[in-house]
Amino acid sequence: MQKINIMKILLVIPPLTQLNTPYPATAQLTGFLKSREIDAVQMDLSISLIDKLFTKENLEKVFKIASSGTTISKQHKIILQQSEFYLQTIDPVMRFLSGRDSSLAQRFCNRDFWPRTKRLPSEDDLEWAFGTIGNYDRATHLCTLFLKDLSDLIQQTIDPHFELIRYAESLCLRLPHFDPLQAELEKPYSFIDELMLDIFSKKIVETKPDFVGFSVPFPGNLYSSLRCAQWLKLKFPDIKITMGGGYVNTELRQITDTAIFNYIDYLIYDDGELPLLRLLNGGELVRTLYRDTENQIQRINFDSKENIPFSEIGSPDYSGLLQNNYINLIELTNPMHALWSNGRWNKMMLAHGCYWGKCTFCDGTLDYIKRYESAPIELIVDRMETLMHQTGQSGFHFVDEAASPALLRKLSEEIIRRKITVSYWTNVRFEKSFTPELCYLMAKSGCIAISGGLEVASPRILKLINKGITIETARESMKNFAESGIMTHAYLMYGFPTETVQETIDSLEVVRDLFENGWIQSAFWHRYAMTIHSPSGQNPESVGAKSLQTQPDNFANNEIPFSTNNEINLEKYGRGLNLATYNYMQGAGYDIPVKKWFDKA
Ligand code: SF4
Repeated sequence: MQKINIMKILLVIPPLTQLNTPYPATAQLTGFLKSREIDAVQMDLSISLIDKLFTKENLEKVFKIASSGTTISKQHKIILQQSEFYLQTIDPVMRFLSGRDSSLAQRFCNRDFWPRTKRLPSEDDLEWAFGTIGNYDRATHLCTLFLKDLSDLIQQTIDPHFELIRYAESLCLRLPHFDPLQAELEKPYSFIDELMLDIFSKKIVETKPDFVGFSVPFPGNLYSSLRCAQWLKLKFPDIKITMGGGYVNTELRQITDTAIFNYIDYLIYDDGELPLLRLLNGGELVRTLYRDTENQIQRINFDSKENIPFSEIGSPDYSGLLQNNYINLIELTNPMHALWSNGRWNKMMLAHGCYWGKCTFCDGTLDYIKRYESAPIELIVDRMETLMHQTGQSGFHFVDEAASPALLRKLSEEIIRRKITVSYWTNVRFEKSFTPELCYLMAKSGCIAISGGLEVASPRILKLINKGITIETARESMKNFAESGIMTHAYLMYGFPTETVQETIDSLEVVRDLFENGWIQSAFWHRYAMTIHSPSGQNPESVGAKSLQTQPDNFANNEIPFSTNNEINLEKYGRGLNLATYNYMQGAGYDIPVKKWFDKA
């Protein structure tokens, strides 16, 4: 293969990801590549698109296109009738949400300021959620609902792929073949595409990269990456294009269809540092796919375990992102939910991979879980201090899969020893080592919240999923976190093979009890998905299931259809679990027998 001498790479976060803080992948890679003397720049196309779309100028265009449509819902007619209000308010809303004009809180927190749309909460609901002193959050919540109304209008009248924090996710969520995506890419540009490409093209002209790398963490980033790549191939065919990230790592490992290479040149897998370094420096490629001149996919060192050690990947570099107008959103009034979409967080990892790595539903065969590697705690806290200095923010979201209690102890001690004031939150496994003493230490060092998988609160299923915890130890650790003032979010799962209706009901009973005692503040139920990279997907019989997939699909492969001898109505139970938990999060419904939630669903 021809050697490529690369001078400059532009790393792109494609629309749409979270809007309150930069997604960490490009910052990590930029920091690493710069430390290896490579000219790396980055852009967050996601927030740039939203910032450009939600302006008076573009909203006027949105309203014009929307009013020329033939089918328009009653709700959207109301918005169009009040277009003057929306046009007058959109710029102040964006200034407020991005923290550039906080004085607007007093106006925006007043319910009477807003049009009477379906989303507008009652005064009682607002009083309950924010009291009389939470004016800033209350205003943020009302502004978020205002943007959601506009997003719905855009989705239904202009671009069916548009959602406030996703783009074309439903199109790409399950994509066994590339054809449906290709059909969309062959359509004329939508208004949103045009805005996105306008921003992207300016960046290309300004930075003149030799290489563009798209980080695609979720299905909702695939379409926009390929739209940009398609434009790039047309206008700047000499620029090489690569794509990596969570979606590529999990879904495209078995790809045999070459059509995606009409848009991009390379797919890279697992941690991107080494594959990118080799691509850019012209060294031997690693975990890289490309299409050769015979239209065959070449998989170069695809199974290589070679990586840059975690201690040598360097600190993330946020240059090029800090000037963006990130916006705070509060959609749900739950305080734990607000952490995900509200506030700027420095995102980094305390360690690579998961120290447990044995849960049967989890992608434990993939490098991002399987390879557990830590670094000296002094180095981690040095990285934190570097980031604080660079971003001016002291809040950290440690995006580890599961931070170990031993590591969190060392971290807390080091933060306290250095006398630095930070706040942080992370994922954990609810194990017995989270004693009152450790939780207190963590809280003292700045831990404000944790999330973790309780999964299925049934002793039999907990054993089957090999979580290595019991309900009792989980309950004990949650209690210890709560008593130290640390908020807890529990990830829960339903529909695990062989799980019975009674076990699902019992599971909800445990969750109800945890909420009522104040030991968790937030929870979310995911339907179990059998993925090809999990122990249960690799050996479905081991969990009492039978795979219904005969051979891999030629584009994306991740979830495996399966059957068991004990099928329950997952739609109905999923609705019941979510309805009950939504009420518990609002502090309501504890007195309703758990069975009743499923009757209502
Ligand atoms: S589910 Fe969490 S604790 Fe279990 S292996 Fe995966 S990352 Fe580790």
